[in-house]
Amino acid sequence: MALPVVAIVGRPNVGKSTLFNKLAGQRLSIVDDTPGVTRDRVYAESEWESRRFSIVDTGGIEPGEDVILAQTRAQARLAMEAADVIVFVTDVRTGPVAADHEIAAMLMKSGKPVVLCVNKCDSIGDPPAEFYEFYNLGLGDPVGVSSVHGHGTGDLLDRVVSLFPDQNGDAGPDEMIRVAVIGKPNAGKSSLVNKIAGEERCIVSDVAGTTRDAVDIAVENEFGRFLLIDTAGLRRKSRVDDNIERYSMLRAQMAVERSDVCVIMIDGTVGFTEQDSKVAGMAHEAGKACVIAVNKWDAVEKDGYTMNAYEKKLREDFSFMPYAGILFISAKTGQRLDRLFQAIREAAASNTRRVATGMLNEVLAQAVARVQPPTDKGRRLKIYYMTQVSVQPPTFVFFVNSKKLFHFSYQRFLENMIRDTFGFEGTPIRFLIHERG
Ligand code: GDP
Ligand code: GDP
Repeated sequence: MALPVVAIVGRPNVGKSTLFNKLAGQRLSIVDDTPGVTRDRVYAESEWESRRFSIVDTGGIEPGEDVILAQTRAQARLAMEAADVIVFVTDVRTGPVAADHEIAAMLMKSGKPVVLCVNKCDSIGDPPAEFYEFYNLGLGDPVGVSSVHGHGTGDLLDRVVSLFPDQNGDAGPDEMIRVAVIGKPNAGKSSLVNKIAGEERCIVSDVAGTTRDAVDIAVENEFGRFLLIDTAGLRRKSRVDDNIERYSMLRAQMAVERSDVCVIMIDGTVGFTEQDSKVAGMAHEAGKACVIAVNKWDAVEKDGYTMNAYEKKLREDFSFMPYAGILFISAKTGQRLDRLFQAIREAAASNTRRVATGMLNEVLAQAVARVQPPTDKGRRLKIYYMTQVSVQPPTFVFFVNSKKLFHFSYQRFLENMIRDTFGFEGTPIRFLIHERG
């Protein structure tokens, strides 16, 4: 089940990133050496009252005076497309300004749940008189918050969580595999979705979100039922702001959050680029199942060696996700689209696979017998026990005598053993390590 997505929107300087950091708390994700989102983080997973969700800060472009409104509008559109709940941040010190009114009107029309946050209410006690002016925005009761000090954020999160879609509600789409097709502009994402939707063997229906902006497409074929997540309004032609890399990355990020499987689409006529690795890094960090699709294969000049050489090069480029399958497809001719669906299915199954504790520990015992655990100054790593604690992605806990001794290389070795034995093609897996005296 994909996590609900909370988007933070608002004018520059109202305190969006400060609020984001506060809400993200210490749960800013495990940092590894995946390229992409870690340096310039706009997304984090968080939890409140045992509900997990992801937060996206849509801000962050350095604005010139004249483009502030245009950018704030673009952020709001993005949030309306892809978020489950929107937190609209304003500033008590400036009061509601004209741009706030305009954004409020856009958000209201979308019908998406919005929580109006009035930031910089720093003093405890009754809110300042200006606070009440925010009722004029027509978005209901504002929540006064001080992102710097942290007060009010609990009330804000209460409201946010109460607006999440009902998990027990509509069971329909949840049996489907949610697929996000992500990649840089012009890779052929919309072409692929249109091709799939146009196939005769497919039953296609639009699944309207709460807004008219996002329309996911349900597809049923011999490989199962799939929900193609509408990223940049896939079926319509992309918007101007899609050409700004940051927005296309944010769109990709939000689609990733809502997905079970990510199809990372590369333009085969262009080859690998930095942006492809950022997009793939998002899917990897989010723990999603992944398939790499090299598109426009019809247009690539090739001989008998091209595909192997191409694949070899991509394996190096995507060395952080050796588990992902690589397929050469054409959205134009439909070449290998059945293979693509098959790969999506398999990756989704791996991503939700559970292995019994007994079997895991047998494999662990074999692994330890084959390659001795590392030592340091006469002390040897002991792994007492391991167990799988969750899926999506499959996550394993190890109980060990010393974290420090559990070197990355030995973890890598165990990961390979687990993969060799149990599969897990197409999905990242995670290790958590607990030290026990
Ligand atoms: P963004 O552009 O909307 O992301 O805004 P920032 O988070 O970068 O904040 C803009 C400025 O407002 C920074 O100088 C923050 O320190 C300040 N700020 C943010 N939240 C608060 C708050 O709750 N109280 C006060 N006094 N200042 C805040
Ligand atoms: P998006 O921005 O990723 O959604 O890319 P589009 O689907 O709009 O495709 C960008 C361009 O690539 C369009 O001119 C498409 O006709 C072309 N294109 C997409 N898929 C293929 C393909 O498989 N083969 C060829 N030759 N062209 C393609």
